[in-house]
Amino acid sequence: MKTTHTYDHFYLWHEIEAILKGYETDHPELTTLTSLGKTAEGRDIWAIAVTDSATGLPCEKPAYCVDANIHAGEVTGSMCAMYLLDTLYTNCDAPEVRKILQDYTFYVIPRISPDGSETYLTTPEMLRSVNKMYPFDDLQPGVQPMDLDGDGVIRRMRVKSPYGVWKISAEDPRLMVKRGPDDVEGDFYNVFNEGMIEDFDGVWIKQAPNKWGNDFNRNFPFAWEPEVRQAGAGTYPLIHDETKIMADFIADHKNICCILNMHTMGGFYLYPPGYKSGKEAVKSDMELYKALGKIGTEESGYPAVNVRDEYVSTGAGPIRGLFDDFNHFAMGLINFTIECWDLYPRVGVPHTFPQKEKNDDEQYDQMKKVYQWADENLGAEAIKPWTTFNHPQLGEVEIGGYDYKTLVQNCPPKFLQQEVEKHGRFMLRAVKAMPRLEIRNVKTTPMGDAVKVEACVYNPAFLATYVTKEALNLRIVGELEATLCGEAEILEGKKTQLLGQLEGYSGIRAASYMGGQTSMMGNPCEKKVSWIVKAQPGTELTLSFKHPRAGKASAKITL
Ligand SMILES: [Zn+2]
Repeated sequence: MKTTHTYDHFYLWHEIEAILKGYETDHPELTTLTSLGKTAEGRDIWAIAVTDSATGLPCEKPAYCVDANIHAGEVTGSMCAMYLLDTLYTNCDAPEVRKILQDYTFYVIPRISPDGSETYLTTPEMLRSVNKMYPFDDLQPGVQPMDLDGDGVIRRMRVKSPYGVWKISAEDPRLMVKRGPDDVEGDFYNVFNEGMIEDFDGVWIKQAPNKWGNDFNRNFPFAWEPEVRQAGAGTYPLIHDETKIMADFIADHKNICCILNMHTMGGFYLYPPGYKSGKEAVKSDMELYKALGKIGTEESGYPAVNVRDEYVSTGAGPIRGLFDDFNHFAMGLINFTIECWDLYPRVGVPHTFPQKEKNDDEQYDQMKKVYQWADENLGAEAIKPWTTFNHPQLGEVEIGGYDYKTLVQNCPPKFLQQEVEKHGRFMLRAVKAMPRLEIRNVKTTPMGDAVKVEACVYNPAFLATYVTKEALNLRIVGELEATLCGEAEILEGKKTQLLGQLEGYSGIRAASYMGGQTSMMGNPCEKKVSWIVKAQPGTELTLSFKHPRAGKASAKITL
């Protein structure tokens, strides 16, 4: 697809803001740009709604919501969100995109934590969600990461020690290998973040806990647990403006059917639950994720897996307070989390599921392959050889290794274009699964001096109007409404009739047997509605259907 902007670097806040405002100026007919609130440092959290306003307001159509940077450092995610917008605006006159914008709304929140991302992109600091002290108000004893040698990157720092647990690899002097029980001759090292030691007693070097330990993606009011049981949880659910804004946004936009949370890293399309096994979730909902995830795999090569059973390493506990669990289990929506950037499969370490912790040999092998791949694809400067540095507290140390931010956590900028393209293709396909309303077989039949008005309304899409069974169980989705308007006396049938829900074709079991293929019809995808009315011949009536998630459809009838 054609694009207008370039995908060769990670956008700073002012770039994102300028692009969004440019869309608003250049395409007012497609755009509603809203600030959802301001951050502590005064940045707006922008949400942009994109749809063809000629066919309805954003809130009147089924909506696909894409967000990024709930994890501030995972800036590849926000680039995917910006790329989606770029393809929609640049190609808005192309038939495929025009049809999508006529039928659906996209809500895009490209940067949930602009303060955090700006810190990440403009300083050597690494952080999860936001540059705010938590859970401690002061720096804790131990190594505090800092760019000591002034190259703009916080790398690794090795310190020679008689009880060092690492030694230099014989294969590649940049690699470290674990010291064996009988290794007594030679140089041994301990390895830390490049940094200064808070509260140093001159002897013992500890790792310090992360000073900015908030994780917005553990702060949602579903299966939430406090910090002792879930790192990053926050003092209580939705304590942050950013998480409260997102929960409100989802709850306030009843037309949202699907959500995509853009993250890094690893190369996965993840789906809920994270707090319990997928086997304990509604089976047919899990089948929806498998079918939609297959599109993600086709476009990206990334596997679509369940968080709790496959993604989380064996033996690790449930993940609590997740945004996607909140969206699925409290809001009844379809929510994928895309973990962009598949470094390990690229270097030759394929995924296995369920994931398991790698042993020492496997970890060494993985690191070796990453170094080889970086040498071949990024050049010699990607990995800094161990370089002597005179540490103010420790004396002579060595600093070296790669830039975690643009090799592991995010894709190297030269791979950004292909990364955003593959997920962009998924989004433009996945949006078409959302429920819609269409009308057919509108009929009027004279009955003496009255007229019978009939019509059928159907959902031609994969997903049902209620989207997930979880939503039905939660009883949070309104019903399909049919209304007849105009100058007519209604003799039979209520002016507004409630029609319940329409199934999507995902609800028709399709199977191949010895006798051939078969469609096993369950709940209807199409329903008929009728009224008996009395009116002057030639009177024009409007028959309209609406559903909070599936949008609107209407037809005119002349008696
Ligand atoms: Zn993340």
